[in-house]
Amino acid sequence: MLHEARTLSWPRVKALAEAGALALLPIGSTEAHGPHLPLSVDVVIAEEVCRRLALRRAGDAVMFPAITYALTDFAAPFAGTVSLNAEVARALISGVLRGMVSSGFGTIAVINHHLEPAHFRVVHEAARTITDARVVVTDHRRAPTGPRLGEEFMHGGAHAGFYETSLMLAAAPALVDEACRRALPEVTASLVTAIKAGAKDFLEAGGPDAYFGAPATASAEEGERLFGILVDAAEAALAPTPL
Ligand SMILES: [Zn+2]
Repeated sequence: MLHEARTLSWPRVKALAEAGALALLPIGSTEAHGPHLPLSVDVVIAEEVCRRLALRRAGDAVMFPAITYALTDFAAPFAGTVSLNAEVARALISGVLRGMVSSGFGTIAVINHHLEPAHFRVVHEAARTITDARVVVTDHRRAPTGPRLGEEFMHGGAHAGFYETSLMLAAAPALVDEACRRALPEVTASLVTAIKAGAKDFLEAGGPDAYFGAPATASAEEGERLFGILVDAAEAALAPTPL
């Protein structure tokens, strides 16, 4: 069963932690996601994965309020984006994890959907600062999950294109500007390739409107399929490690 920490009293949280509930920490960003999507895309997706994971699992899960700011240098040229430096982002995430462990939770699932490589590195580093509880970071970029998320995810860069727009159409369609989305031309530049070649932001990477790929082809059905895979990945990461 899913419980949202922001709606609970401290005795309820204490009781759930003592009973062995799983704690969930969604991590997103406040970042430009094309002209058709809001700044909160990564937060919305991370929270939705947490909710669906909790609903699928047996037992109690407590979702803490999301971390909504991140290291997001690539979107920094666009209005609304707020980027923390690595040191601040790492300290923020590790401080929140520390607070969750102090509340009594023995297992924490970190669900991060801001995929900028430097940020994902910070998430892993922050998780490693916790040594007295099990902190599981689902990294869905890696095999076997990454390839299941599609060609665009693996090679295009998955920023506000077919992949993320489909997830948003499934999770929060009211936040998608449909008229805008349907008129957007495909951006064929590969964010992945551009990053490897040294691009420092979306403009340098060939995404003048802060999106890559083909948002016009996105669908809620594809978003449902993708959420299924993302929840599979989180479940697999949480499985007991074989001896
Ligand atoms: Zn995103």
